[in-house]
Formats: sequence, C-alpha cells, structure tokens
Amino acid sequence: ALKVTGGEVCFDAVKFAYHPDRPILKGISLTVAAGQRVALVGPSGSGKSTIGRLLFRFYDVTGGAIRIDGQDLRDVTQQSLHDAIGVVPQDTVLFNDTIRYNIAYGRAGATEAEIVAAARAAKIHDFVMSLPEGYETAVGERGLKLSGGEKQRVGIARTLLKNPPILLLDEATSALDTQTERDIQDSLNAMGEGRTVITIAHRLSTIADADRIVVLEKGKIVEEGTHEAL
Ligand code: ATP
Ligand code: MG
Repeated sequence: ALKVTGGEVCFDAVKFAYHPDRPILKGISLTVAAGQRVALVGPSGSGKSTIGRLLFRFYDVTGGAIRIDGQDLRDVTQQSLHDAIGVVPQDTVLFNDTIRYNIAYGRAGATEAEIVAAARAAKIHDFVMSLPEGYETAVGERGLKLSGGEKQRVGIARTLLKNPPILLLDEATSALDTQTERDIQDSLNAMGEGRTVITIAHRLSTIADADRIVVLEKGKIVEEGTHEAL
C-alpha cells in the first residue's frame, strides 16, 4: 500500500502512448513538492488530462516512472492510491439521490458534523440550507436540478470529506459567471490548504495563484516558472 508521508509527486521521464504508433507524452520530468500548487497549462490535445489519468493510474506509463513520496505507482495498490488522491473533474457526476448522499458518497461512516463542515468549506452549505428540504433534497438524474457550479461544489465537498493529501483538479473550460467562478475558486483555494495540488488550469486566477506554472506542448514541457517570471 502507498504510504504518503508528505505528498511529493514525481514524474520521472514519463512517456506514454494510447496507441504505440502515436506517442502522447514524450519524456515528462516534473517534481511537485509536498504542499506545492502547480498549474498545468497548454493547448488542447497537449496531454494535460493524460498526465492526470496516469497519476490516478487509469493507464500505466510506457516509459519512465511516476512516484509519490518515492514509491513507484506500479508497486502500490490501486485502493491506497485512490485514497491518497482526490480528483475534482471538469464535470462532476452526481448520483440520482440526495445532496447528503452525494457528499458522503464512499464515506458511509461520515457524521452529520463532518458532512456540514465539508459543505461549509466547499461554500455550498448556505445554498443547501436555503432549499426547503436541505440536505435531503434530491438532485435528480445526474444532478439535473442543480446548476453546474452547485454540482461542482457538491463534488468539492465530497472530496473534502475524503481529505486526501494530494489533489488533482481539472478545471472546466466552460465560462461561468463571475460570482460562481469566485465561489468555486474560494472553495478550491480552501481545499488546497496544506495539500499538494496539481491543477489543469484554464482560469487566469488559478494560474496567478499557483506556486509554479508548467507549460505543456505536444507532450513536452516547454516552459516552467512562476506567474511573474513567465
Ligand atoms: P484539452 O485541453 O482539450 O482537455 P488535453 O491537453 O487535456 O486537452 P489529452 O486529453 O491529454 O489533452 O489528450 C492528448 C492527446 O491524446 C489528444 O491528441 C487526444 O486525442 C489523445 N487521446 C486522449 N484520450 C485518448 C484515448 N482514450 N485514446 C486515444 N487517444 C486519446
Ligand atoms: Mg483535458
């Protein structure tokens, strides 16, 4: 099992191809220190989401290695890896059940206090309390009865309840109104406190807030630095 001591993520000369004839990542070397926030940027198709999928071990690297606190992902169990990494995807998928169920999903033992604390940190608690049925509100098929931003914040609350040392965020490319964007940014920033955060960034505010920015192009890192330096 993976033993997370600080949450350092190291990509060591990582190569990857979905199909042997078409290399996607062509030797990515990147170390994200424990507690650091890195923003990954680059054109569509450059391999950003692929890096995320490899970190979560949807696929194995075809060259090089990925290590968390020095442990090769191939040497740890999938379960321990998934416990260590919280993923907030571009589009949060909700279950056709209550808000409570969706926040506590996978944490059957979560207490009321823990659920509310996670919802508060995700900036969704006040919205939930404004609903006639509160946490018992049914979200509908795929969360149809919630807006995109509300859905995402329920997803953030779910991840906060899981409390993983490493976070992988894939920001939505779709435009959100300024207030929703600010609310989500607030909850993402709160979530990042004390964790290693890798964000596939589309928003300028995320990029400005990152400790480090990594620019990917055609499967290679072409630039790296702080917001001020780039
Ligand atoms: P975007 O900004 O549009 O989300 P991205 O940088 O996240 O782009 P990836 O999703 O990592 O890009 O895709 C990198 C390349 O890999 C693309 O050319 C894509 O077509 C290809 N690709 C992605 N997923 C698969 C797959 N499952 N099978 C084959 N090729 C894939
Ligand atoms: Mg992507």
